[in-house]
Amino acid sequence: MTTSALTREDLTALDRADTLAGFRERFSLPAGVIYLDGNSLGAMLRATAGRVSAMVEQEWGTGLIRSWNEAGWMELPGRIADKIGRLIGAAPGGMAVGDSTSVNLFKLLGAALAARPERRVILTEPGNFPTDLYIAQGLSKLLAQGHEVRMVAPDEIAAALDDSVAVLMLTHVNYHTGAMFDMAGLTEAAHAAGALTVWDLAHSAGAVPVDLAGADVDFAVGCGYKYLNGGPGAPAFLYVAPRLLADVRFPITGWWGHVAPFSFEAVFRPADGIARATVGTAPMISIAALEVGVDLALEAPMAAVRAKSVAMTDVFARLVQQRCAGFGLEIISPADAARRGSQVSVAHPNAYPVMQALIAHNVIGDFRAPDVLRFGMTPLYLGFAELWDAVELLRRILTEETWKQPQFNVRRSVT
Ligand SMILES: *Cc1c(COP(=O)(O)O)cnc(C)c1O
Repeated sequence: MTTSALTREDLTALDRADTLAGFRERFSLPAGVIYLDGNSLGAMLRATAGRVSAMVEQEWGTGLIRSWNEAGWMELPGRIADKIGRLIGAAPGGMAVGDSTSVNLFKLLGAALAARPERRVILTEPGNFPTDLYIAQGLSKLLAQGHEVRMVAPDEIAAALDDSVAVLMLTHVNYHTGAMFDMAGLTEAAHAAGALTVWDLAHSAGAVPVDLAGADVDFAVGCGYKYLNGGPGAPAFLYVAPRLLADVRFPITGWWGHVAPFSFEAVFRPADGIARATVGTAPMISIAALEVGVDLALEAPMAAVRAKSVAMTDVFARLVQQRCAGFGLEIISPADAARRGSQVSVAHPNAYPVMQALIAHNVIGDFRAPDVLRFGMTPLYLGFAELWDAVELLRRILTEETWKQPQFNVRRSVT
């Protein structure tokens, strides 16, 4: 990209050349809304309502409990897990779907600590997503064996990998800044220090290329409701490198993880494969919705998704600089696209009311405390001209000081 001033015509030309443009009509987005928050809650696919209604009315309503066998409910979570695995380069047999990202982190961190009994440190960074830090802290306390969550700045992680570190826990793409870690390099450094790795792919799966097997990652988790468009509270996924499966022990041992759940034995015996990472009955209605989103993601070539995502984040950042100069906005996402996920984060002292004013005018992003406007780029349902229109609205709100209106300054519970 050159650095000359962009025009709206430049962006409509990019839209005309966009090989992914056809995916837009597969989504049900309200007319006039520019949705820049697919990194927090993905948009709804048109096919989702029909799939969920068939699951509810036919499979549940008519099939009743017979559907566990006859509608393939038993195989459904494993099938979707394997499909997500194809999006993130998982080694075959390592993927499971279910529970939330938070709960899956607990399971995997517990497994990692059990596999390194002589070590006591979970290494991470203070800017990691809060639930990741909270889960690590809670688990360390629960174990009551002197475990410690050690937080160091991102550029000090490699140097902090010593023989006290049991596990390196990082989120691949930072939720706040959009900065992306070198997954392969840090995994290799962790292994060289004798540590295991847990990668959180909440802002990666379906958004940026990931190669779990290629990077030799030990464990990973991720979200179903962000770039996979699985719907609010969609089940999460987890990954365990197949080379670890024979010995891995999880801190929650439920009946779905038993080698023979329907033998109803009194003593837990783990399933042979990744099934041992599952706990209880999977939420079938949510899982049906998730599969629709995952199937669509598999239709889109990741190279094209990434190329459009990089172009969109570049264009958006340039527009903010060119069209909104002088208003105190500061782009905090990395300038180097190779180190950036699929979002642009912009700091501003009045970020909260500014975002509320944007949302009131149908440009939906979100606010992250203390001062960040977050704009997520979802190549499957967003066009370039919409980025222009979104930044023009931002400019108008800043120029006219619309954000000062009292209704935009009332804090709501979800930001
Ligand atoms: C969104 C997100 C989560 C969400 O966890 P839930 O258990 O689904 O609420 C966890 N970690 C990261 C990094 C996230 O971005």
